Amino acid sequence: MKQVDVIIVGAGSAGCVAARRCAELGLKTLLLEKKPRELVGKKVCGDEISKSHFDATGIEYPKGPEISSVISGADVYPPNLTNELRVRGWNEFDGWTVDRLAFGQRLLAEAINSGVIFKDQIHVSGPLSKNDCVSGVSYKDLKNDITDTIRSKLVIDASGFASVIRHKIDNPFVEKRINKSDIALCYREILELRIPLAEPEVARVILGGEYAPQGYAWVFPKGSQSVNVGIGITGGSGRGSPKPLYEKFKSEYALLYGSKLIEGGGGAVPVRRPLPSLVANGVAFIGDAAWMVNPIHGGGLGAGMRAGIILGEIAKEAIAKRDTSTSGLWGYNVRYLSGFGRRLASLEIFKRLLVDVNDEDMNFGFEHRILEAGDLMAANRGEGFSMGFLEKMKRLKRGLGNMSLLRRIQRAARLMKKIDKLYQSYPLSPHRFEQWRKSVDEVIQEAHFK
Ligand SMILES: Cc1cc2nc3c(=O)[nH]c(=O)nc-3n(C[C@H](O)[C@H](O)[C@H](O)COP(=O)(O)OP(=O)(O)OC[C@H]3O[C@@H](n4cnc5c(N)ncnc54)[C@H](O)[C@@H]3O)c2cc1C
Repeated sequence: MKQVDVIIVGAGSAGCVAARRCAELGLKTLLLEKKPRELVGKKVCGDEISKSHFDATGIEYPKGPEISSVISGADVYPPNLTNELRVRGWNEFDGWTVDRLAFGQRLLAEAINSGVIFKDQIHVSGPLSKNDCVSGVSYKDLKNDITDTIRSKLVIDASGFASVIRHKIDNPFVEKRINKSDIALCYREILELRIPLAEPEVARVILGGEYAPQGYAWVFPKGSQSVNVGIGITGGSGRGSPKPLYEKFKSEYALLYGSKLIEGGGGAVPVRRPLPSLVANGVAFIGDAAWMVNPIHGGGLGAGMRAGIILGEIAKEAIAKRDTSTSGLWGYNVRYLSGFGRRLASLEIFKRLLVDVNDEDMNFGFEHRILEAGDLMAANRGEGFSMGFLEKMKRLKRGLGNMSLLRRIQRAARLMKKIDKLYQSYPLSPHRFEQWRKSVDEVIQEAHFK
């Protein structure tokens, strides 16, 4: 095989969904993965995914052994662990924790059944280029110890956070580097508890404090007596590994006393708005390789799956028109970034607010209910905190003891609206891109709340 329509690098959730859609639409699609086939899907993760992503994409709900727990609520705690916010009864919060391996194997099987040619133990080393255009990849076949190349009309980089293609492309549309402060460093374990969970359908999240400074700790149910527990902290200068913080949390959080370790591991997640352009000549980016992760909670499974469906359809159109240039693929930018991507951009502002608010203010905010469950849900939908006049007055009264916090929340709400508007009017062609990117950067520059 020397030439295909589309090469997809990486068989994670984003790569499998994109590959499946490309093949369903009749493209000759090659999916390359460095891991052995039986390990596809295995990944350090919080394992939580909302039902809404399946409803939006038409991908079948997890079922049978893919499901660890059904999730239908969350308790969100401030640093002092009192006055928690109980998030219950919101449809968009319903979902599951999944068995990552079983879920990943199902996505891969669906891709293969749709006609994708899948090759495992292939380590892609970088893109091939012709006339400023990506035209294929070079790779090493790990089973046979052979190095070779293969050409395609489009290369999709779905290789996760390390992004083997994006880092090797010099193109004004492609951002290569991510700031350390836009990365969450995580450590998590799966633990079997001494006693069953009182509410096995409720996730717990603890913001900031000594356990997760400028980040959060999570405890997600994995069955009636097991949990996925982790800490994610913002990266940056002077930040070490989150593991010692995790160890402290585990030894002090009563629910976890005497628990048995099933498995543990660390990982990194991009927690910022997605790449401003998801395409360049001959190439498109998806999933963690395109920074498609919810900046508040680090969830990227759904964000990448949503993109996979769109990208498959745009790939089909572009290849049919024999135009996989930046312009030919631009529709992927427009559809994703002015749709789901704009939620992620607006949530980056909210994340910046949470990182900048100190523990004392956070405790005050929870105690006086300055934000409520509905606000979190609205923010998560990308709607900001839009409240009516009377509601605003009520909150103002409750927050009188801390006007500075109220003002910062209001400023964040204003910037969330501003960035949302910019993303809604994502440029319809590459010509206005630079100007648009500048306007977005200006809003982000303003988003400091200390
Ligand atoms: C600790 C932690 C907790 C998280 N919790 C959640 C959560 O609860 N819910 C949620 O939705 N998300 C969560 N995430 C994020 C989520 O795991 C990712 O956003 C998602 O897995 C990204 O999918 P992907 O397909 O883009 O990349 P990946 O799943 O990373 O897949 C990339 C694939 O590419 C392959 N690959 C890499 N390089 C090469 C190469 N050179 N050649 C060939 N193949 C290659 C890899 O082996 C891998 O299979 C968490 C992440 C971490 C680290």
